[in-house]
Amino acid sequence: MRAVRVHEPGGSDALRVEDVDIPAPGEGELVIRVAAAGVNFIDAYHRSGAYPRQTPFTLGVEAAGTVEAVGDGVAEFSVGDRVATADAVGSYADLALVAADRAVPVPEAVDLETAAAALLQGLTAHYLTGGTYRLGKDDRVLIHAAAGGVGLLLVQMAKLRGATVYGTVSSAEKETLAREAGADEVIRYTEADFGDEIAELTGGEGLDVVYDGVGSATFDRGLECLRPRGMMVLFGQSSGPVEPVDPQRLNAGGSLFLTRPKLGDYTAERAELLARADELFGWLESSQLTVKVSERHPLDRAAQAHDRLEGRQTVGKALLVP
Ligand code: NDP
Repeated sequence: MRAVRVHEPGGSDALRVEDVDIPAPGEGELVIRVAAAGVNFIDAYHRSGAYPRQTPFTLGVEAAGTVEAVGDGVAEFSVGDRVATADAVGSYADLALVAADRAVPVPEAVDLETAAAALLQGLTAHYLTGGTYRLGKDDRVLIHAAAGGVGLLLVQMAKLRGATVYGTVSSAEKETLAREAGADEVIRYTEADFGDEIAELTGGEGLDVVYDGVGSATFDRGLECLRPRGMMVLFGQSSGPVEPVDPQRLNAGGSLFLTRPKLGDYTAERAELLARADELFGWLESSQLTVKVSERHPLDRAAQAHDRLEGRQTVGKALLVP
């Protein structure tokens, strides 16, 4: 089978498509035939070494497909079942290994490409809007990179939960998409100071929550946009890591909260993973939520997909289709 492998961390030229042995499922594991693999920022961090991994390895954590083989001790799944996961051991491949307790069943009404596109970023938006902070109708929130993969889902879920949503984007095309997803106001943060815009939009009162997956370029100004006792949810760093923060800044800003959450901690228990996936797929089935797949690439174009993601050229979701 083919797999996209990394031998030495580096740029997108570190990706190599290779023929590798077909994986055999160990105890508690599944092998799934990958219908589609999600391209996520974490894959770029794994590839570059920003999040170090033992080399060589097959890239990719997100996939949807059908169960091809089942290891000992797995009662929940059988060969042929449709499943998705955000925790595959190498999803940029024809076949991927996954621990059975990190796979979720995909309902009939949801096609496998949609499941691959929605799961990781959808679960993320789900816990960010319903777990890290429980958004409600009185909340005003700022979502950076609002036309990105997580961004478009965050905008929709924040609206589903009743919040007023301000988004930031870098282009006219992205602005249109963020508005279509439901953003009440969209700010081009590459052209205007988003802090000034937020001050005006909130009448100087500030925001309840800032969702920041962009990191170094936006973090400081975002803190200044919060109301007293507001929450900074720093969930990523697509522009680079944030410098260490002096806790006194949270005091000076008005008893602010700062959290740096990750999906694994909000889906660690199987029951929580299944409950979040269930609501996510339910919203997709009822069309309350849509996922925008903007590009599909074969495995041997994984490097181009990374270049586009890291170069701010993607909107919504990019998939690899083996
Ligand atoms: P996106 O589709 O959002 O792509 C990243 C976007 O960030 C770009 O499109 C761009 O939007 C914006 N951006 C701003 N500055 C830069 C820059 N210098 N270089 C590149 N992009 C920039 O990616 P994902 O949806 O896959 O991920 C978004 C973030 O969420 C990532 O930081 C990721 O690590 C994080 N994440 C965190 C999780 C968690 O549980 N903590 C889980 C999943 C993702 P624009 O052009 O509009 O500025």
